Amino acid sequence: MMIERHETDILILGSGGAGLFAALHAKQANPDLDITLAVKGLIGKSGCTRMVQGGYNVALNPGDSIERHFMDTIAGGKWLPDQDLAWTLCVKAVERIQELENEIGCFFDRNDDGTLHQKAFAGQSFDRTAHKSDLTGIEIINRLMEKVWAAQVRRLEEHRAIKLIPAKDGSGLAGVVLIDIRTGQYRYIAAKAVLMATGAGPTMYLYHTPSGDKTCDGLAMMLDYGLSLRDMEMVQFHPTGLLGGPDTRMTGTVLEEGLRGAGGYLLNGAGERFMASYDPAGERATRDIVSRGIFNEMREGRTTAMGGVYIAMSHLGPEKVEKAFPGMVKRCRDCGFDLAGGRVEVVPTAHYMMGGVEFGLDTATALPGLFAAGEDCGGVHGANRLGGNGVANSTVFGGIAGDSMAAFVKANPHYRDPDESVIDAAIAEAEYPFTHLTGNSAGGDIAGLRDDLAQTMWDDIGIMRDKAGIRAGLETLRQHEAALEGIGVADGNRAFNLTWHDWLNLKSLISISKVIGTAALAREDSRGAHFREDFPATGSLEETRFTSVSQQDGQLNLAMKKVAFTRVKPGQSLIDGDVGAPTQGQIKAPKNKTQVVAE
Ligand SMILES: Cc1cc2nc3c(=O)[nH]c(=O)nc-3n(C[C@H](O)[C@H](O)[C@H](O)COP(=O)(O)OP(=O)(O)OC[C@H]3O[C@@H](n4cnc5c(N)ncnc54)[C@H](O)[C@@H]3O)c2cc1C
Repeated sequence: MMIERHETDILILGSGGAGLFAALHAKQANPDLDITLAVKGLIGKSGCTRMVQGGYNVALNPGDSIERHFMDTIAGGKWLPDQDLAWTLCVKAVERIQELENEIGCFFDRNDDGTLHQKAFAGQSFDRTAHKSDLTGIEIINRLMEKVWAAQVRRLEEHRAIKLIPAKDGSGLAGVVLIDIRTGQYRYIAAKAVLMATGAGPTMYLYHTPSGDKTCDGLAMMLDYGLSLRDMEMVQFHPTGLLGGPDTRMTGTVLEEGLRGAGGYLLNGAGERFMASYDPAGERATRDIVSRGIFNEMREGRTTAMGGVYIAMSHLGPEKVEKAFPGMVKRCRDCGFDLAGGRVEVVPTAHYMMGGVEFGLDTATALPGLFAAGEDCGGVHGANRLGGNGVANSTVFGGIAGDSMAAFVKANPHYRDPDESVIDAAIAEAEYPFTHLTGNSAGGDIAGLRDDLAQTMWDDIGIMRDKAGIRAGLETLRQHEAALEGIGVADGNRAFNLTWHDWLNLKSLISISKVIGTAALAREDSRGAHFREDFPATGSLEETRFTSVSQQDGQLNLAMKKVAFTRVKPGQSLIDGDVGAPTQGQIKAPKNKTQVVAE
C-alpha cells in the first residue's frame, strides 16, 4: 500500500472545543508555526462540543468564587478528581470565557445590567452556567471554526488517525498514520508535537448521546502505545434519553433535565410515579440516582412498549411546556411524540466519559511529543462531571495545549525519525479486514456484532454492576474481539468505504470497553457514576484511589493509585465558613442559587 508523507510542526487530532482552541493558541504563541488540524468528521460539524445545549461553568459573579466552583467539582467528583487539574479548570474558565466573548466573538445571553446571564445546573452551589439559550455549543464552535479558517491552519477533514508512530531511537513520538476517508489513501504525518483531542465518547452503549464519529479511537491509540488510562469505570448516564425505537438515530438523544426540574413526572409502564421510592428528591434527584431508578424499573419489567419509562409534562399545562421547552417539544414531535400534551418514552443514555489518559497540568502525556486535552483526558472530573464543566474542560485545556505545544516545538525543533516497521504494521492492521478473508468468506455481520457489543455493555457493565456481571461482560467482550477478527470487508474499494470504518470503529470500541470493564471490576465501592450492587457503600474518602489501566503485549494491567489531596482534604473546605466535608447536597446555597436544572 502506498503512503503519502507530510510534515507539520503541530498536528492536532479532532476539532471540538479542545482541538480548535489548541490551534488558535499555538498560532497566537507563534504565527510562523505550521499547524495541521486532522479530523475524522468535518470541522465545526463533528464531535460533541457542537451539541452542548446547557452551557459553560465559570465563576464570574462577585457572590461566587473559584473556590466554590472548585469545591463543587471536587464534591461532585466524590473526591476522585486530581485537585490541581480541577483547580486549573476553575481558574482558567474565567480567562477562557473572556476570550470566547472578546476575542472569538461569541455572544452569550445577558442580564439587563449587561453582565452574563448564568443559570442553575445540578450539583452546583451557585448559578454559574453561562449559555446562549439552549444552543451554546453551536455558538462556541461556529465562532471558533471561523477563527481557525482565518488563521492559516492546514485542514484535513474526513481524516481518521489510526496509529501513533514512535521515533526509531525511542526518544518520543515521531508522527501519526491516518486514513483519508474520502479516498482510502494512507498518510503519515511527521510532527514535532501532536495533540490528542478526539473526544472519547461512550458510544459502545445501547443508548448513547455523543456524535457517531466518536468511537474512542484516541483512547484506543494511546492504550495501544502503552499510556495509562485513569477512572475509566466512570461513565456518566443521562437519565432521560429519547426512546424512539431502533430505527432512528434520535434514540438516545438527551431530553434535558430542565423538564424534570420544571416539575415533569417519570412514570413506569403502568403509569405510576416511581422515583419517590428511590430517593426523597423524586424526579429531581441527581443524574446517577434517577438513572438507577429508571434502570431498576426496566429491569423489573415495569416498562413502556419500547422498554423504557415515560416522561410526562402535560399536568403543567401544554401551552406552558411548549413555551418553556420549544426545542425539546420539537425534537419529540419530529419523532412522533407529544411532549407538551402527552407522554414521551425515555431511557437512561450514556453521555460522557470522565476517564481518559493521564495527563499533566501542561497537557503533556507520558509520551514526549504527545499532548492531550478535552474528553480524551482523565482526572479533571473524577467520579462525576458537573453539567457545564465539560465544555469548560475542553476549551480550558485545549488552550493550554496550544501554548504548551508551541513552547515544546521551540525547545524541540527537529522531527524525529519514525520507526518504519510500526508504520508498516499500522497499515497492515488497517488492511486486515480486506486481506485476511477472501472470496465467499469475506464479509460478515458487523452491524450485528455492534448490536451485541452495545447490549453487553448495557447489561453487564452499565448503570448497575456487580462482580459476576462484569466478569461475564469481560468474557463476552473477548468473544466479540475474536468475532471481529473473523469478519472481513467484502467491498475492496477503499474510498468512502463506511463498512471498513465501522470495522475500525468496532475495534476501538471493543478495546476501550475492555478497559471500562477492567476498571469497573477493580473498583469495589460505589461512587458517582460507578455503582456496584455488591459494594453499594462509598469507600473511605481519605483512602481514595483511582484506577489506572495500561496495556502491555495485549494484556491489560490495572493499578490503584492514591489521589493526592494537594489543596483540600475530606472534612475540609476552601470556602470560608464551610464546616466539614462538603458532599453534593450539603454545600450551602448562597442567596442567588436557583433550584435544579442541567444540560
Ligand atoms: C448532547 C450533549 C450535550 C452536552 N451538553 C453539555 C453542556 O451543556 N455543557 C457541558 O459542559 N458539556 C456538555 N456536553 C459535553 C461536551 O460536549 C464535551 O465534554 C466536550 O465538548 C468535548 O470536547 P472535545 O473537544 O474533547 O471533543 P469533541 O467536541 O467531541 O470533538 C472530538 C473531535 O475528534 C474527532 N475525532 C474522533 N476520532 C478521531 C480520529 N480517529 N481521528 C481524527 N479525529 C477524530 C471528531 O470528529 C471531533 O471533531 C454535552 C455532550 C453531549 C453529547
